[in-house]
Amino acid sequence: MPPLALLYRHPLLRALTLTLTCLLAACSRGDDPVYRDQFFAFGTLIDLSFYDVETARAEQASQALEQAFTQMHTDWHAWQPGALQQVNARLAEQGQATGDPAIAALIQEANRLSLLSNGLFNPVIGRLVALWGFHSDEPPQGPPPAGERIRQLVEQAPTSADVHVDGLQISGHNPAVRYDLGAFAKGYAIDRGIQQLRELGITNAIINAGGDLRGIGRHGERPWRIGIRDPRKPGVLAAVELAADESVFTSGDYERFYEYEGQRYHHIIDPRSGYPASATVSATVIHPLAATADAAATALFVAGPDDWPAIARQLGVGYVMLVDREGRIHMNPAMKARLVFESEPDTIVMSDAL
Ligand code: ADP
Ligand code: MG
Repeated sequence: MPPLALLYRHPLLRALTLTLTCLLAACSRGDDPVYRDQFFAFGTLIDLSFYDVETARAEQASQALEQAFTQMHTDWHAWQPGALQQVNARLAEQGQATGDPAIAALIQEANRLSLLSNGLFNPVIGRLVALWGFHSDEPPQGPPPAGERIRQLVEQAPTSADVHVDGLQISGHNPAVRYDLGAFAKGYAIDRGIQQLRELGITNAIINAGGDLRGIGRHGERPWRIGIRDPRKPGVLAAVELAADESVFTSGDYERFYEYEGQRYHHIIDPRSGYPASATVSATVIHPLAATADAAATALFVAGPDDWPAIARQLGVGYVMLVDREGRIHMNPAMKARLVFESEPDTIVMSDAL
């Protein structure tokens, strides 16, 4: 996935900032107060930005984060050997598993958010995701799976309500349950990463995983500014300034997909039909916690242009933008008030229901 939508400045402000910087003769020395580093985890580039942190401490924090993210990626991987795969195997064979504290907490939080989303964010449909060929680092090749196989998996209807977590004990009441935390683990990991940064005394930072990010503190005198990727062309759709502690997550049909006979098959599956959700091309959520924002972006993508406000309310999400198949932009007024669009959208559909 391209590491797009990094730190973004509105063109006017960018010009102004550059002018000021050059006037102060700092541009030639390149003494940017932002320390940047990146590493690869969760199938994407993780970009770190720390404002005004001495280099030795920044390097130490960056290394600690890389180590933690690499471990979390292995532990919570949906289809490679690790702790989650073991939980899945035990649940399938014996209906119960013993997790480690981190994975038990992760699963419990995923289950909670899944129930609040009416199961549209459904972290236990691993078999469906695998059937569609997305349990692979390579994009799948068509044709799509046979309708009969999809129908069988949908009928088994695994949901988070089938799983009960009590301490480290995880019990399942449906043998079809397979955890796939692809829609959630990255956000949850970012929240843990931010916690780690705070413990290291870093209070102005962004952790950005391929455009999904959480920012804390500020970029010096001004807030952090970030861009939301345009789902249909290279570049930025809109810019937003972050409050002191906020996450911005987007689920899009462009992240992982293949085309077969002119039809696009992407990686966000509607658990009710078993097919990729087709009414949305991207859903963006702003929320303090990255884990909630990640689960919510996926849930609202599946909910689509008609049902997103009700699900957003249940999830406690206050800012949403959804781009539908026709390119119309759906938003609530609070979100509209915060976005600076690159070019004025043709159609905006406002929802007062959120
Ligand atoms: P991305 O990871 O590309 O930002 P998402 O957060 O929406 O996008 O996660 C999509 C991934 O989540 C899929 O690759 C799959 O592993 C899993 N998934 C697909 N559909 C659902 C769903 N309805 N609920 C929960 N997880 C899903
Ligand atoms: Mg998600």
